[in-house]
Amino acid sequence: MSYLQKQQRRRYGTGKTTHTDYALYYHLIWAVEEGLPLITQEIEEVLKKFLVKKCKALEIILIAVEMAKNHAHLILSLKPTHYIPDLVQALKGSSSYFINNHTNMDFALYWERGYSIRTISEMNMDNAKHYVLNQKKYHGIEGKTSSSKAGLKSALGTTQTP
Ligand SMILES: [Zn+2]
Repeated sequence: MSYLQKQQRRRYGTGKTTHTDYALYYHLIWAVEEGLPLITQEIEEVLKKFLVKKCKALEIILIAVEMAKNHAHLILSLKPTHYIPDLVQALKGSSSYFINNHTNMDFALYWERGYSIRTISEMNMDNAKHYVLNQKKYHGIEGKTSSSKAGLKSALGTTQTP
């Protein structure tokens, strides 16, 4: 392993034990139901704080999280024992529940069924992080999406990860 790779692993929180070495990075995206632009600045802040805590509880290292008005991007570092359908369900389900029960919105926030997930190689991590953390810039003005499929599609549109 090169020095650079070692540095990257340290930075992004790769697990390493005596017998197991892994680097499992994923770019996860999910959308608001019907692609509605419901993620206001206030909701976004609550969501981010919640997801940070939830990931910790699930032993997921949350490398980056950013929101657009109608979808969420997360970069995760997982363990080999993580089962993706369960953890996505846990993140989506608990976050919308939390929003709907701990904020004073005039509407309920529901996530679209399904999600998009891509692997991120160590070499591509900086690009992926840059893309996620600059969501608002990449998407320009958000909230124009009218159909749910278009919501996730536009969310995925310029993803740089494979
Ligand atoms: Zn996006």
